[in-house]
Amino acid sequence: MSNLLPTTEAEECGPAPRLLSPIEPLPDRTVQLGALEVHRVLPVRGRRLIGPWCFFDRFGPVTFRQDKAMDVGPHPHIGLQTVTWLLDGEVVHKDSLGSECLVRAGQLSLMTAGRGIAHAEETPGDNSGKLDGAQLWVALPEHSRSVAPQYLCTPEQPARDHRGGVVTTILGEFAGAASAGVQFSPGVGADIAVRAGETMNLPLDPAFEYGALLARGDAQALRVPLQRNTLYYLGAGRSELDLSSREGARLLLIGGAPFGETVLMWWNFVARTAEEIAAARQAWERGEQFGDVPRYNGPRTPAPRFLGRPIPSPGR
Ligand code: MN
Repeated sequence: MSNLLPTTEAEECGPAPRLLSPIEPLPDRTVQLGALEVHRVLPVRGRRLIGPWCFFDRFGPVTFRQDKAMDVGPHPHIGLQTVTWLLDGEVVHKDSLGSECLVRAGQLSLMTAGRGIAHAEETPGDNSGKLDGAQLWVALPEHSRSVAPQYLCTPEQPARDHRGGVVTTILGEFAGAASAGVQFSPGVGADIAVRAGETMNLPLDPAFEYGALLARGDAQALRVPLQRNTLYYLGAGRSELDLSSREGARLLLIGGAPFGETVLMWWNFVARTAEEIAAARQAWERGEQFGDVPRYNGPRTPAPRFLGRPIPSPGR
């Protein structure tokens, strides 16, 4: 998915890990794109990174008939990995490597942009009329941000029963199940289903900071009631997480070792300098570096205007 809330200036995103603190709801921005409601929960004011995770858009749930719920034309990425994770519905991914995957709920769509890739994501013509999911980005560390682009689409992700529910690992290793997704810095992503009337006790890595989002149902995390589609910062230094639900819940958990580098984000690029961003923008506008996305029927996404000035992060 493309960054649908573009700015003309780049955002400086640095790590600001905190040790054990009260569970803290982060502000979000909501944008309506046709029938689809998108909550941008990362980066937001006061919180730019959680581990290596630098971007988190929660979209849906939506039901639709004729229109495509998602149709994001070819656009470029550098310096990051994109994770598309669906709770319901389907999206077709196509990229400039020639990859094509029909992604359904429970499958991982992981695109490593490295030094540059272009992709498109759209609702297929033959669809369920539903869409519910999330798009997340992982920042690549300095030593890996120029790797060759690659794409992985898995038939399913490892899921394990735990007392009180089921954990599916999206990225990294969580509660005994490891994802096949390639990683360049320590981090984790998981989808947690809590059964009605149950409490789950899940192990956390005290060296990681974490964030949790309630996607469906009702839940309490460490006895704090969660609002739906709000990202809660859990900090670092915790060795366990208690989740309970009255009616049943689905939560998304992200985390990782504090990233240790300040990145510059603009549009669909994660970089270090405004010059790099300007060069990537120019390459895209000239049709260089990123290649074409075959078999996508529609126009490329033009880059927004870029003023070339970083916005210092107010949250740091
Ligand atoms: Mn994208």
